Amino acid sequence: MSQDSEYSEGDLRNTGMSLKHDREWDYELDRIVEAVEERDATKVGLQFPEGLKRRGPQVADDIRALVPDDVTVMISGQPCYGACDLDTFLMKRTDVFVHFGHSPMKNTDKVIYVPLFSNVDVFPIMEESLEELPDPEASDERPSVGLVTTAQHMNRFEEMKSWLDERGFDVRTRKGDDRLTHEGQVLGCNYASADIDADHVLYVGGGKFHPLGLAMEHPDKKVVIGDPVNNVVTVADTEKFLKQRYASVHKAMDAEKWGVIFCTKIGQGRWEQAEEILEDNDDAYLITMDEVTPDRLRNFDMDAFVNTGCPRITTDDGPQFHKPMLTPGEYEIAVGNKPLDELSFDTFHGTW
Ligand code: SF4
Repeated sequence: MSQDSEYSEGDLRNTGMSLKHDREWDYELDRIVEAVEERDATKVGLQFPEGLKRRGPQVADDIRALVPDDVTVMISGQPCYGACDLDTFLMKRTDVFVHFGHSPMKNTDKVIYVPLFSNVDVFPIMEESLEELPDPEASDERPSVGLVTTAQHMNRFEEMKSWLDERGFDVRTRKGDDRLTHEGQVLGCNYASADIDADHVLYVGGGKFHPLGLAMEHPDKKVVIGDPVNNVVTVADTEKFLKQRYASVHKAMDAEKWGVIFCTKIGQGRWEQAEEILEDNDDAYLITMDEVTPDRLRNFDMDAFVNTGCPRITTDDGPQFHKPMLTPGEYEIAVGNKPLDELSFDTFHGTW
């Protein structure tokens, strides 16, 4: 997936951004070394998201200095975009496997998750966000507001809640479904934590993509974006995004031959959805792959594709594919099973 899309700003893949504010990173070396000792490990696997890969050699050096000489430390060279994206090849071949930068999507003894929290101060931008939220002094009742953030700012979530509460808001939060680790956490593909009874939702975090998805999922809510990374407050506007999606759906309406992408990454596969499409369409062909990129699909002679893997591949990188790339919901519209006004954001639920 590209790093330059306007929607990818602040994404977990760009964890390097948060490192601007994060000079010291406690990556829990003791926990890793302890696991090596306990398991009598001879092979250790390390997996970093893109923004942290450059730290890999230093982390490997630190581990090597503390474990016996016969321990081999391996660094995954695969791209990594989330906790949905574990390097299962490396995981199976190592006694200790450490996944850096994301909070667990599914707890398992096989993986040591080392999260990365940004130490950027979120409160100045929350102060500015108040301009876009209802004024608590203007009514007798405390206005309700939903609060969500990304895993990177989760370490401050309780403080953020108290901060809003002290300023007169009735703060509504919830934990989403089991794809989400924390209360109030959103992912680029899951906004279940915003299914709350409030007309306003404050999203504290970098970039526009997450709040865009949120606003698409909850068109009845005003989604205020307090971005502490770029230091700006905006209100999510789905219009431009919707136009781009409608254009892709229109282009695919005449398609006959469809490529149905099933992603083989552990947390990005939606088999049932892929199967459903195939059952209904004799001109649909199942294409399995891990990384879904324009180059890899170029040689397939299809009229259009439908992506059942990571929704962001469709929404971030869609225009870069040589043929229209649709979400499963958009496919239903393009083939005439659903009306155009049912276009919605593609979300992903559950784990594996
Ligand atoms: S599947 Fe969801 S969690 Fe995984 S990279 Fe895509 S948006 Fe992020």
